[in-house]
Amino acid sequence: MDCLFCKIAAGEIPSKKVYEDDLCYAFYDIDPQAPTHFLVIPKAHIASVSEVTPENQAVVGHIFSVIAQITKDLGLESYRVVSNIGEQAGQSVFHLHFHVLSGRDMTWPPG
Ligand code: C5P
Repeated sequence: MDCLFCKIAAGEIPSKKVYEDDLCYAFYDIDPQAPTHFLVIPKAHIASVSEVTPENQAVVGHIFSVIAQITKDLGLESYRVVSNIGEQAGQSVFHLHFHVLSGRDMTWPPG
């Protein structure tokens, strides 16, 4: 499968790593939308939240525990976690990813 984030997780395409373990990989977004902006992805390919099932759901909880740890390690007390699902919502890479954005005032609702 020709998936950009599968290649990033496998180290085949360079990225600025934040964290890695057997299940997930975190790296800084190449086009940051906040002073701190990184992505956390499962190493196994899942296209989006729409493809989370009883069989693969465990990695999602794991990713949220990793986000809690990384943000603590980076000293981030306030941050936003976002996952876009589908083109209309702004998804451009079809491998599940959670954006973590921090370091500026955020508006609600998002545009
Ligand atoms: O939610 P969406 O699918 O649009 O998010 C994809 C994100 O992946 C973008 O924020 C984009 O800047 C980032 N990206 C990246 N490295 C790449 C390609 C895309 O960090 N090589």
